[in-house]
Amino acid sequence: MELWPACIDADYVAGVRDFARREISPQADDIDRRDVYPRDILKAMAKAGYNAVALPVEDGGAGLGYGHAAAVFEEVSYASAAVGISLITIFQAQTIIRIFGNDTLKREWLPQFGQGLLSSYALTEANHGSDIRSLDTKAVRDGEGWVLTGEKSFITSGSAAEFFIILAETPVGVSTFAVPAGLDGLSSYIGTNSATFGLRNGPHVNLVLDRVRLPGHALIGVEGKGVRQAVGTLNYSRTLAGAISIGIARAAFDAALAFVGKRKAFDQRVIEFQGIQWYFAEMLAEIEAARLLVYRAAEALDSGVDQDRYASAAKLKAAKVATDVAALAVQVCGAYGVMENAPFGRFLRDAKAYEIAGGSAEILKNTLGKYLTRVLAAS
Ligand SMILES: Cc1cc2nc3c(=O)[nH]c(=O)nc-3n(C[C@H](O)[C@H](O)[C@H](O)COP(=O)(O)OP(=O)(O)OC[C@H]3O[C@@H](n4cnc5c(N)ncnc54)[C@H](O)[C@@H]3O)c2cc1C
Repeated sequence: MELWPACIDADYVAGVRDFARREISPQADDIDRRDVYPRDILKAMAKAGYNAVALPVEDGGAGLGYGHAAAVFEEVSYASAAVGISLITIFQAQTIIRIFGNDTLKREWLPQFGQGLLSSYALTEANHGSDIRSLDTKAVRDGEGWVLTGEKSFITSGSAAEFFIILAETPVGVSTFAVPAGLDGLSSYIGTNSATFGLRNGPHVNLVLDRVRLPGHALIGVEGKGVRQAVGTLNYSRTLAGAISIGIARAAFDAALAFVGKRKAFDQRVIEFQGIQWYFAEMLAEIEAARLLVYRAAEALDSGVDQDRYASAAKLKAAKVATDVAALAVQVCGAYGVMENAPFGRFLRDAKAYEIAGGSAEILKNTLGKYLTRVLAAS
């Protein structure tokens, strides 16, 4: 009996599950412990068709909807959220180029994502996290091209990225640029804040831009519209981040259920205590509710209607549910839950980190507040 039936095409989900259990699960604890970028896994995922699920076929993608993308994120993150977050930085880059990029950028870069291009999204700086209305990284015109100078922090997948999306401020406002790795003046280092306790897919590096020269077509979309682009693209990554959180929550739930189904106390299995059953009943209901919301948000990405509402609600709810479920999973497993050789610490650390990364709970509530204000003004 399947506790977590597929929310979309069951055969497709079965294929991803099989891949994740075969290729990712055996390495999950090691990736977390050593904090390394799972390069081989991401390259194998590209070959299996999972790195560009929602890109059109003519751009080298699988041409599927965002429900399929959510399923990929959920299933790979059930095995390892570090792999999930590695995939999300790839999706962020391809989404921004697909939606806002000029023809030259689309032709050059979109086909490469399906072939395994590894990428990062660099927005945050030491002095600009949630507040990105202005940035210390500057871009100035240089003839037909641009010169970028500044430093980015917390850059996920930055230790392995072959391509970066970088936000920098021009005289007319925050703007977005496509930047291949290996350019003169572009380097990264492991800073004092690069090691996280969760979502450990290699150090979240500092990225240094020392007069990095770019051609004119490297500007993505309209100069000065970077914040609007970032907010629009975040609806995609927040929905998929919700799917990552569901993967973590399901993994914690299943592992804890398996444990209490065997463990005995006071002459019965732990799952037979009603108090313990109630914990699981609540966890099941919460995960199911959050899961439905994530797939509803994926539908909104496909339809283009109310994306900010559903993406924000999905990430807000799913991230909280994952943290709550992971904490309760530790509790019901007793000492085993706390052991380093059990996976629960990883689930809890990954879940908590996703209440902040990619848009904190508070910022998501602000977005929902703005949505409600908009609805009121229109009524
Ligand atoms: C694991 C991880 C991976 C990350 N990967 C990347 C990456 O790849 N690329 C990238 O660019 N960034 C990345 N980040 C950075 C991340 O996006 C920021 O940490 C996040 O946006 C919050 O910014 P901050 O940490 O500076 O917090 P701050 O903005 O300093 O906020 C501190 C606290 O104040 C709250 N707060 C701030 N503003 C408001 C407000 N208006 N109303 C109410 N509360 C508010 C916040 O919610 C938070 O609780 C990553 C972070 C983590 C933890």
